[in-house]
Amino acid sequence: MTKYNFKQLSQIAGQTPYYYYDKSHISKTVSKLKQYFPKLSIYYAIKANPMPEMISFLANQVDGFDVSSIKELQVAINAISNQNNICFAGPGKSHKELLSAVTAGVVINVESANELEHLILIKNNYQLSPRVSLRINPDFSLKRSGVMMTGYASGFGIDEEQIPQMIQKLLSNGIKLNGFHIYSGSQNLNSDSLIKSHEQIFKLIDKLICAHNLSIKQLNIGGGFGIPYFKGEQSLQLQPIADNLEHLIQDMKSKHGNIEYILELGRYLVGEAGYYVSKVIDIKRSKNKKIIIVDGGLHHHLANSGNFGQVIRKNYPILIQTEHGHHEISHATHQESPESETEKQCVDIYGPLCTPLDILAKDVEIENVSINDLIIIKQSGAYGKSASPENFLSHPSSVELLL
Ligand SMILES: *Cc1c(COP(=O)(O)O)cnc(C)c1O
Repeated sequence: MTKYNFKQLSQIAGQTPYYYYDKSHISKTVSKLKQYFPKLSIYYAIKANPMPEMISFLANQVDGFDVSSIKELQVAINAISNQNNICFAGPGKSHKELLSAVTAGVVINVESANELEHLILIKNNYQLSPRVSLRINPDFSLKRSGVMMTGYASGFGIDEEQIPQMIQKLLSNGIKLNGFHIYSGSQNLNSDSLIKSHEQIFKLIDKLICAHNLSIKQLNIGGGFGIPYFKGEQSLQLQPIADNLEHLIQDMKSKHGNIEYILELGRYLVGEAGYYVSKVIDIKRSKNKKIIIVDGGLHHHLANSGNFGQVIRKNYPILIQTEHGHHEISHATHQESPESETEKQCVDIYGPLCTPLDILAKDVEIENVSINDLIIIKQSGAYGKSASPENFLSHPSSVELLL
């Protein structure tokens, strides 16, 4: 944390609701990753948190950026230093986006045969040399992840079976293959399943290199590293993943020489460093339950409301800041609320939107709460502001602080 407490941060923000991102936490996470994965390049996937100041801040720390739109590409270009590379992934890249990216010299992770056709046209019409990696949709999937991205019919990447044709097409048009990209899933807390997926990736790439006598520069192995959000979840164990990658890279090096290995992470780099802060506006009772209404909600933080890819809504970890300081709010173990005001009460926290979906927390225990206290949602640095329908109900936007 900074030298400021949440009351002071609110004054700096000039309003609630706001997001606060802790720079020192982000730097610590990057250092930890560099320590565990000294042989890999660390890329930041901008879509997790595209705040331009965040990109500038990370530019001095990470090796590169993963962008998924022309706007993200421009934010990255405006922020990067010489040490940074950019790769451009995502389905449905238009001719205009590809021309912009190729001209800027970034690596394109090609996701379809048509994208490759556009790149060939760009090469011939503009005398440019596109840096092309093929994004593979392999037959395997990343088990036990929040979101699985491969191994089924999908808009992402090119099916494993079609990769040989794509390689032929590239080479016959005089484009060198830069490398491969496999992004198999997101929000994974299970090191065994990540290890398994890395083994499958390296095996597949070895097979392709041998079959087509390739020499590639880069292998982007995706990311998928998760952070604990909910009760009972544990932080990801990095050591076994690092040990395994060390072996895989060593083995690959002995067979195919030097390749740059890329780990592209969004959530893991910024998620735990972020807080979403809102203010208590109203307190009331309904059917013998205490109800707290705050000025923030799903229009700023859709993921916390449970409507961004969750099947069953669970509470994020929460703090309350009263005039006596801040402390963690725990989950209620009982549903009934005792009558006495001094005892801990089972409370629901709602946002100001006119929809029952606008839940900040359900069945949490709060001893004392007053109007103007702050409700602070932790683990909110990724997929927060930019992943929320800010215009829904036309309330004011959230402010972002990075300090
Ligand atoms: C979204 C995305 C990421 C980042 O995912 P996290 O789960 O936030 O780490 C990485 N790579 C690609 C290609 C993505 O689309």
